Amino acid sequence: MTIAANSLDLIGNTPLVLLKGPSEATGCEIWGKCEYANPGGSVKDRAALYIVRDAEANGSLRPGGTIVEGTAGNTGIGLALVGNALGYKTIIVMPDNQSAEKMATIRALGAELVLVPPAPFANPGHFVHTSRRIAEETDNAIWANQFDNIANRKAHIFGTAEEIWDQMDGRIDGFTCAAGTGGTIAGTGLGLKAKRADIVVALTDPHGAGLYNYYQCGELKPEGSSVAEGIGQNRITANLDGAPIDTQFRISDAEGLAVVRQLLDEEGLCLGLSSGINVAGAMALARQLGPGKRIATMLCDSGFRYLSTLYNPEWLASKGLGGPT
Ligand code: PMP
Repeated sequence: MTIAANSLDLIGNTPLVLLKGPSEATGCEIWGKCEYANPGGSVKDRAALYIVRDAEANGSLRPGGTIVEGTAGNTGIGLALVGNALGYKTIIVMPDNQSAEKMATIRALGAELVLVPPAPFANPGHFVHTSRRIAEETDNAIWANQFDNIANRKAHIFGTAEEIWDQMDGRIDGFTCAAGTGGTIAGTGLGLKAKRADIVVALTDPHGAGLYNYYQCGELKPEGSSVAEGIGQNRITANLDGAPIDTQFRISDAEGLAVVRQLLDEEGLCLGLSSGINVAGAMALARQLGPGKRIATMLCDSGFRYLSTLYNPEWLASKGLGGPT
């Protein structure tokens, strides 16, 4: 697609790139879906569009209405753009430990940004609960509810999975990515399995999340911690419910960062940490499946969104993640 009838048609249909270093290192073909090429710069534009279209279709979002959401940032950016394009206001609630670039972007797009301190999910001050309350208290507003609104994963069943299947000519052996809401892994997994049930779907979990142990031994038990933004889940969201996970890997920030650095230095790709963790997971899946296989993963957002963190040697050192790149 080289022309679009309107700005919303620019969402999705992202390129798929063969990652040379990871492919050579594993003897497999490892392909990355360039989600940073979406208009809002991340995979979450897809969910934002589906959630808003779904709310319009079911009558909950009416002309002049407001979209309210709690987000690590990328969904807020996507919702603000989609809201602008369709004439809705946006109120975004974000934990205050996310990157300054994402906060500045949300404000620049014209959304109202509400920052809250990071808190456990059980705490009523958690960004998700805060966003639900604001939606309830605002006239003519919807709560996007990306974690438990399965319009999110439909974006990947009908979008991402179809695109990957077409781009790889149906010759795909495995798919993996990490979960934030779980919309991407569940939706893309379900969509690909509907094409061919033997495509291996693997969860790649960061440290500090409970899903690796859940799929490994049935217990939602987080171990360790991660500075990766947008991923790491400790409950089975509605989007994750029934996700067809065949196998799972746990990837540390250090492993993910090493991949981020390698992709930048050797392939000129500047990515965020969830992309590095995803590619490290794809390499683990490649080693499990053996040489000659074709594996896809998600390049969720750009490194330009993290210049003050991942690409800032002092910040990295303050997190115990080594010095200059
Ligand atoms: N990577 C980044 C950078 C994200 O912002 C998100 C969304 N939270 C994800 C990965 C995970 O996507 P999903 O919510 O579909 O699980």
